[in-house]
Amino acid sequence: MGSQIGSEGQGRGHLTPAEFRRAGQAVVDWVAGYLERLESFPVLSRSQPGEVRSKLPAIPPEAPEPLERLLADLDEIVLPGITHWQSPSFFGYFPANASPAAILGEIVSAGLGVQGMMWQTSPACTEVETHLLDWLVDLLGLPQGFKSSAAGGGVIQDTASSATLCAVLAARERASAWQTNERGVDRRFVAYASSQAHSSVEKALAVAGIGRENLRPVEVDRHYALRPDALERAIQRDRELGATPFFACATVGTTSSTAIDPVPAIGAICRREGLWLHVDAALAGNAAICPEHRALNDGVELADSYCFNPHKWLLTNFDCDCFFVADRAALIRTLSVLPEYLRNKATESGAVFDYRDWHVPLGRRFRALKLWFVLRLYGIENLRRYIRAHVALAREFAGWVTADPDFELCAAVPLNLVCFRHKGQDAFNEHLLAALNASGELFLTHTKLGGRFVLRLAIGGTWTERRHVERAWETIRRTARQL
Ligand code: PLP
Repeated sequence: MGSQIGSEGQGRGHLTPAEFRRAGQAVVDWVAGYLERLESFPVLSRSQPGEVRSKLPAIPPEAPEPLERLLADLDEIVLPGITHWQSPSFFGYFPANASPAAILGEIVSAGLGVQGMMWQTSPACTEVETHLLDWLVDLLGLPQGFKSSAAGGGVIQDTASSATLCAVLAARERASAWQTNERGVDRRFVAYASSQAHSSVEKALAVAGIGRENLRPVEVDRHYALRPDALERAIQRDRELGATPFFACATVGTTSSTAIDPVPAIGAICRREGLWLHVDAALAGNAAICPEHRALNDGVELADSYCFNPHKWLLTNFDCDCFFVADRAALIRTLSVLPEYLRNKATESGAVFDYRDWHVPLGRRFRALKLWFVLRLYGIENLRRYIRAHVALAREFAGWVTADPDFELCAAVPLNLVCFRHKGQDAFNEHLLAALNASGELFLTHTKLGGRFVLRLAIGGTWTERRHVERAWETIRRTARQL
């Protein structure tokens, strides 16, 4: 069988299985070599606009090229244009961590080449995913109602942005008695999130036809967490104006400062007022795998939906967002479309999940494989160790900042993000950030808190150890002295 595939394929340029095996080994060797060399690159790419393209030929190759030439171009053309997210000294944004285990799962997913839009198009693609997401409910201490055996269920989305969009769409449908999909938006729906919520909430409201101006940015307290009293007042004001409050997003671990909104109080308001509550725990939700961080889930039992990103902080390479709903019927009713050409007995039996009805696209990859590889090849104990190490390092770094008379901490450090600044002016901090990133030694990003320019150091890299964080602090102090 194998040789038949190979002999036919050769004439059309396919690698035979034997050639594929050799080429695959070479590519895995290249990736392994890249991981070994990670610390040798400037973390932030120094590439200028157009520089990568200028090295690419004007037209694609007519005849096949050898793999060796392609691999050489990865080194010469691609790597200089890479900002090394996997570098142990990448501390910017929130991490997007990959791991050898996840990469292996990704290879298998590509190898199977499954398009898992429906149960029938690959039962394993659906059932492994359902099963893993049920596992995660217990592993993270999430409400049992999110399990597939209850009324809820989980699904892997590409990103938290997509999860939030799906939540907004389902909320909109529920609030309009399932009429908006049919007739369009016929009233003024209003949504609520703290002024610190991620921009994906605003985007979801724009895409869902609600309109950005119908997102109320709710005031935060001095810890940058949403104020429930302000939420309540905003809802009442909108009702008096004849609008329909329909959706609120609580953030557990905001992007700027990992502030944690008071979900129990927000949930109580949403229940009373009939709003759909979505909890965005994109980064922070991963930490709940450690029992000592389970308080992050307080109040989530009041939520209609919840998401977190293993692609941020659970060793699973981008893209992988886990999205849970308490009432899967609402989500499916919102997103289901069944053309004749997709009808099949399994779907009609009602005994299976067709995940095409759980997100916006029809097609879907077998993403659960990489998460499965991670959970199995690391084991939960190592995942916990990984989270704990980062949290401990962030606390240690925060201690160094506090002890230094030239620097100050700008927000609490509940997890792995430290917000800090030099006590000089904003302009000084901006120069400091630019100088640090230009050095190639590390990469940080910034935010504004309380109107001030603040540096963010997020510790979440797969390969980040204490020595990298220590070196980052030394570099920051030295650079500040030299400016
Ligand atoms: N929500 C929060 C709190 C985030 O921090 C981020 C990204 O950093 C997102 C949502 C968006 O994530 P994604 O790229 O998965 O859409």
